[in-house]
Amino acid sequence: MAGLAKPFFGGNWKMNHGPTAARAFVETFTPLCPARDDRTVVFFPPAISLTEFKRAAAKRRDLQLGVQDVYWEPEGAFTGSISAALAKDAGARFVLAGHSERRHVFGDSDEDVARKVRAIADEGLIPVLCVGERLEERERGDVETVVRRQVDQGLSPLAREAITDTVIAYEPVWAIGTGRTASPEDATAVHLLIRGLLVDRVGADAARGIPIIYGGSVKPANIDELLGAPEIDGVLVGGASLSAGDFARICSAAPR
Ligand code: PEP
Repeated sequence: MAGLAKPFFGGNWKMNHGPTAARAFVETFTPLCPARDDRTVVFFPPAISLTEFKRAAAKRRDLQLGVQDVYWEPEGAFTGSISAALAKDAGARFVLAGHSERRHVFGDSDEDVARKVRAIADEGLIPVLCVGERLEERERGDVETVVRRQVDQGLSPLAREAITDTVIAYEPVWAIGTGRTASPEDATAVHLLIRGLLVDRVGADAARGIPIIYGGSVKPANIDELLGAPEIDGVLVGGASLSAGDFARICSAAPR
């Protein structure tokens, strides 16, 4: 941990856990993970499960909610999409933008991600801008070029104050859902690059308050090592967040 923010634990359920499973998850998870004010825990269920999650976790104000994606238009004839305003109405405070599956399965471009970031911030929600290189880009030595471009473009629509209200998630594509984790040293090198890009935009003090989190095959077995690394302010967890027991163990790694 190097930033000033509390450790951030995000659980991205992707296309798993409908309303029934979401309720069952909350019932198992909450006794395993008692409320604490020294960490931020945010769930990103499928949007269709948000209301049920919120109802089931009504007594747990510490558990926050987000959605995995939004379209940038505020409303209208966009079948299958949700807007930031709809996500907010359902109880979301955070929104993922540019998750690797959105970029590489659904074809979201850097420009699309920037439009989404703007729409999220305009609605008063917190964008979690996801960036990260593919394996071939790492092997070509292009990590810095790719991450710099994604951060530059993703933050380009935001004014200084809005940038301080974001979270940046470094998620190397080759580590997502593969069981391969970036070493704490490799992740730290990229987090330092990102911190530098933030310093250029908002100054050193404000940049230290912006969480830069790591994602890519995080699990109970590697959380301590990752959180112990300088510059890693938290984690975004996919597969392991589907298990209440595993995610509770991960969230318990927050410093007391
Ligand atoms: C993710 O979906 O953001 C992610 C990091 O997935 P996993 O933890 O399964 O690699």
